[in-house]
Amino acid sequence: MSETKSAPRYHPETRLVHSGTLRSQFAETSEALFLTQGYVYDTAEQCEARFKGDDPGFIYSRYSNPTVAMFEQRMAALEGAETARALATGMAAVTTAILAPLKAGDHVVAAKALFGSCRYVVEDLLPRYGIESTLVDGLDLDQWRKAMRPNTKTCFIESPTNPTLDVLDIGGIAEIAHQAGARLIVDNVFATPIWQSPLALGADVVVYSATKHIDGQGRTLGGVILSSNAFVQEHLQTFIRQTGPSISPFNAWILLKGLETLGVRVRQQTDSAAAIAEVLASHPKVSRLVYPGRPDHPQAALVKKQMRAGSTLIGFEVKGGKAAAFRCLNALKIARISNNLGDAKSLVTHPATTTHQRLAPEIRAGLGIGESFIRYSVGLEHKDDLIEDLVTALEKA
Ligand SMILES: *Cc1c(COP(=O)(O)O)cnc(C)c1O
Repeated sequence: MSETKSAPRYHPETRLVHSGTLRSQFAETSEALFLTQGYVYDTAEQCEARFKGDDPGFIYSRYSNPTVAMFEQRMAALEGAETARALATGMAAVTTAILAPLKAGDHVVAAKALFGSCRYVVEDLLPRYGIESTLVDGLDLDQWRKAMRPNTKTCFIESPTNPTLDVLDIGGIAEIAHQAGARLIVDNVFATPIWQSPLALGADVVVYSATKHIDGQGRTLGGVILSSNAFVQEHLQTFIRQTGPSISPFNAWILLKGLETLGVRVRQQTDSAAAIAEVLASHPKVSRLVYPGRPDHPQAALVKKQMRAGSTLIGFEVKGGKAAAFRCLNALKIARISNNLGDAKSLVTHPATTTHQRLAPEIRAGLGIGESFIRYSVGLEHKDDLIEDLVTALEKA
């Protein structure tokens, strides 16, 4: 197999198409799909050397496969990370990145505004194994400072947060974590690798649900962890090899092809989101709008500093409570009610009754997830059609 060279001097668009490509002896244009569990060896000696780590090459697809390797290398080149590990789902990536390096007696600090399952891992799962966790208001750096303990090993955040699109100070939180001897893990799903590079801002590890923008067409689940070689060797490699949260080569191939169009998709979706947010900003039925690309966003200065552009997602509240929000959702014809995001199809979510229904109403209210809050994931349809669809639905709210 020969490898396509793609130096970091190339722009992200070029890396998205070429980085990590391995060509077989057939010199195929499109990346090959290696649907194989395992590999054969020419001799017993070669097999022995491969297991010892003296002979480079693949052993077993639970922890290495050429198609998965292409996806991992393309992600690492895009993110500017030393290495990447692809896993079965975003939650497999989050759980592995958080859990694998820790042991009983360690302590984790996380922002309380998290994707529901991420919050379950930190708040419910870790303490069952003797790993304590503290949830803080992610926007308040003093709360981060006060939460640090001598045994704090990991800090975990999302930014922008799901679903309220708050923007957290990645550099500031990284500094507090590092002073306490802890690492910072950033779930970068909402920003995408196109608009935000947490490693360059000071984070140690980045995780993605590739199910979202990286696939972007609603076909498969997937997850990625990006970090230094040392983090993978020390903490992840054995855990992944022995516990098996692995991605199927078929799913990795879909995601690899998804990366080729990630840049154009995210750009167009962001342009449309900005245009829709502009309409919502002055709409009489809308009582609150959150869009990270706008000067009226609560952390607008931080957005300018750490993100290259806004977001493909918009948050807004409809006047008239849950009933009005449901009337609006039910009246939409193009945007469909769903809990996914980052898709080519525009998708709308009512977080209070779906992704965040597990939380008590007062906790939800504290996070700014009201009964009339709607999360809108903007797709690839024409923006004028989406605006007409939304304005018509708001009239029925
Ligand atoms: C969807 C999502 C996840 C989980 O990803 P899956 O691929 O569904 O397991 C984690 N974090 C964020 C921010 C998400 O949006």
